[in-house]
Amino acid sequence: MKSFDYVRPATIAEAVIAAAEPDTAFLAGGTNLLDLMKGGIARPGRLVDITRLPGLGSVDWEADGSVRIGALVRNADLAHDQRFAARFPAVAEALLSGASGQLRNAATAGGNLMQETRCRYFYDTASACNRREPGSGCDALEGINDGHAVLGWSRACIATHPSDFCVPLAALGAIVELEGVSGRRQVPLAQFHRLPGETPDVRTVCEPGEMIVAVLLPQDAGAFAGHSRYLKVRERTSYAFAVVSAAVGLDLESGRIREARVALGGVAARPWRCEAAEAVLAGAEPGRNVFERAARAALDGAAPSGDNAYKIALAERIVARALSLAAAGTPDRLPALPASPFAPQPKGALHV
Ligand code: SF4
Repeated sequence: MKSFDYVRPATIAEAVIAAAEPDTAFLAGGTNLLDLMKGGIARPGRLVDITRLPGLGSVDWEADGSVRIGALVRNADLAHDQRFAARFPAVAEALLSGASGQLRNAATAGGNLMQETRCRYFYDTASACNRREPGSGCDALEGINDGHAVLGWSRACIATHPSDFCVPLAALGAIVELEGVSGRRQVPLAQFHRLPGETPDVRTVCEPGEMIVAVLLPQDAGAFAGHSRYLKVRERTSYAFAVVSAAVGLDLESGRIREARVALGGVAARPWRCEAAEAVLAGAEPGRNVFERAARAALDGAAPSGDNAYKIALAERIVARALSLAAAGTPDRLPALPASPFAPQPKGALHV
């Protein structure tokens, strides 16, 4: 492993100054970064340890029901926060469907957003990878690519973002709060991760030295609590990334959908908010036909990037299924297999 400097600042201001130097990475839970460093994929010359910074480890509620999740809140602590899970059940379900119990105890909210793709060629330093080494090519294009992107990809990179947590956050209009040397700013989570274009090595909108200090869920995100689900197809029922996933929320009033939220995971380099699907659902009576139309709209513009055309059909079915389950009502208790389509489902679901 390459040797590196290690600094542990006492304040956020000191941390962003330390991280503004080139070749620097923030260290929080370390569940992704340390693996990348051990594999020679990430080779920072300096680590800025932010784990002991004050003010980043709590879940704080505003009087209007909006919430501020500190960047260092652990995934497990957030998922098991009963007030949070009751108001944002799809977020809790997504968190509990990700990684393993041990990893959820260590991984942080901010780190979840910053985690790297799981493209196998990115992790293999003998492979060409524009994301790891700009201009080197993309071995995934002609390689094993059945798990790669079907939306927003380019010939420079067809990788997907692996997060579960980010998918309901995108659906619910979460905001990422960043701090850098020139102050704080807020960015909608749905725009935080960049699509690859010609520069797949530029993963997010963060400027050098900027760090995530919080993720905010607005007051109106709570309107979907009663009809909300996260559904995830994976190659085994735990400790696996999504092949495709969907987060949905319905705000029902007098037998109609007043407003809907839909986002997809596992299909693009960022969590994919599906506003066209939301427009199909708004004002409609919930039912199989409208759910299937919304699902087709959610995948509008999708195209295979390799051996992955199946993901388009699969994602359509997962969106329709998630909408059906959400319409039946958020379960009182999370299923034993959170987010699994194979978990027993509540009565009343249409089983699209
Ligand atoms: Fe690298 Fe992206 Fe190609 Fe994977 S898909 S090898 S991450 S450039």
